[in-house]
Amino acid sequence: MECTAGASALSTGMAESDVLKALSQIIDPDFGTDIVSCGFVKDLHINEASGEVSFRLELTTPACPIKDMFEQKANEVVAVLPWVKNVHVTMSAQPARPIFSEQLPAGLQKISNIVAVSSCKGGVGKSTVAVNLAYTLVGMGARVGIFDADVYGPSLPTMVSPENRLLEMNPEKGTIIPTEYLGVKLVSFGFAGQGRAIMRGPMVSGVINQLLTTTEWGELDYLIVDMPPGTGDIQLTLCQVVPLTAAVIVTTPQKLAFIDVAKGVRMFSKLKVPCVAVVENMSHFDADGKRYYPFGRGSGSQVVQQFGIPHLFDLPIRPTLSASGDSGMPEVAADPQGEVAKTFQNLGVCVVQQCAKIRQQVSTAVTYDKSIKAIRVKVPDSDEEFLLHPATVRRNDRSAQSVDEWTGEQKLQYTDVPEDIEPEDIRPMGNYAVSITWPDGFSQIAPYDQLQMIERLVDVPKPTPTPA
Ligand code: ADP
Repeated sequence: MECTAGASALSTGMAESDVLKALSQIIDPDFGTDIVSCGFVKDLHINEASGEVSFRLELTTPACPIKDMFEQKANEVVAVLPWVKNVHVTMSAQPARPIFSEQLPAGLQKISNIVAVSSCKGGVGKSTVAVNLAYTLVGMGARVGIFDADVYGPSLPTMVSPENRLLEMNPEKGTIIPTEYLGVKLVSFGFAGQGRAIMRGPMVSGVINQLLTTTEWGELDYLIVDMPPGTGDIQLTLCQVVPLTAAVIVTTPQKLAFIDVAKGVRMFSKLKVPCVAVVENMSHFDADGKRYYPFGRGSGSQVVQQFGIPHLFDLPIRPTLSASGDSGMPEVAADPQGEVAKTFQNLGVCVVQQCAKIRQQVSTAVTYDKSIKAIRVKVPDSDEEFLLHPATVRRNDRSAQSVDEWTGEQKLQYTDVPEDIEPEDIRPMGNYAVSITWPDGFSQIAPYDQLQMIERLVDVPKPTPTPA
């Protein structure tokens, strides 16, 4: 429990435990755990004599869709304690921090969640979804950026109207400063001012990655990446350069589109990036009091069924969506109470909740249990877990430091690793690996797939110290 209980001299442990017990009645529906166990309660100050209680609830994201509910309930449950006269709750969000930061370019280090919006084909409304999702998240209180990764036909410049339509360079650092419109930071080739370039695949990849990684994004809760359409090398490299938290797939209802989407889902699944939602765009339109389905029905729901993606959002054909796309003002910003904004609100809530869940899972997937001197690995999507002996994990390092890259010769010898070695720190790296820091300063990158293959601890060590 991370609660810092800086109680005043007058308070007793009893009063503090009263308050924490009361607050633990509030359950975070996303994590299925109470807010005290989640570590949300910070700066608890109690003055029992005057009946004053103050604390801060630090949520995982400023866009938390139920932050008002948390605030109100926290007030209520503490106020009913018999000795409490005054409750002062403040709300805050965790500072932006990526799932792993050390290996990332400096400009990306303060981004909490990177969400790819992807489609297999052009013209299905991917950019429309990316842009409106970004503006919805800003409306929910988050700090947001959009990276338009389409080199050939960047659509961001027609969808937003920033005053400054050229990206600026920081000449000293050689970094790019995003432009901004209605509170969203924006980077697109369309703002690079060099006209359309004719490039071949590998060059395109290089340019995209450079633009993305040299940008000074600053603190962001969500970076929305409007992916280039398709699932080829360009997309694959992009996904490997940045640690994506989650992906949203955009499709249209045709049967053929379904096959395309399947490709996208597979690509992300290979990269261990969960697809959290499917948007079925242009699903229908209403005219003369009737609903028409010009492209047929149901490819989105097939994707949901087949791949177990839990959330499907239908976006109808709307002249306003197309018009707002061209006018430079995203529809959700132009008409925040409209039907389209409501659909995006639901998508926004889904993205916020799913990202929070993924981060939670990832950060507890591999941990060190000091009492039994074992590394605990949770099996994804199940309650199962297994234990590994730290020395075995260290001996299985496959990096250039341990194994010669060219000859495959084992450089790290069995006896180089003390039997009782213990990790100093274990941190997630994106969704697919952990970085383990050892006492000699070595930082081992261990992909989950590799951990799954390592010989497991069957006889769990007793929690007793080894004899001297
Ligand atoms: P993509 O990024 O997949 O190439 P865009 O988002 O650029 O697709 O959309 C292509 C065109 O279709 C744009 O002119 C856009 O305004 C329009 N459009 C997208 N979705 C809708 C919709 N639901 N209703 C009407 N027009 C739409």
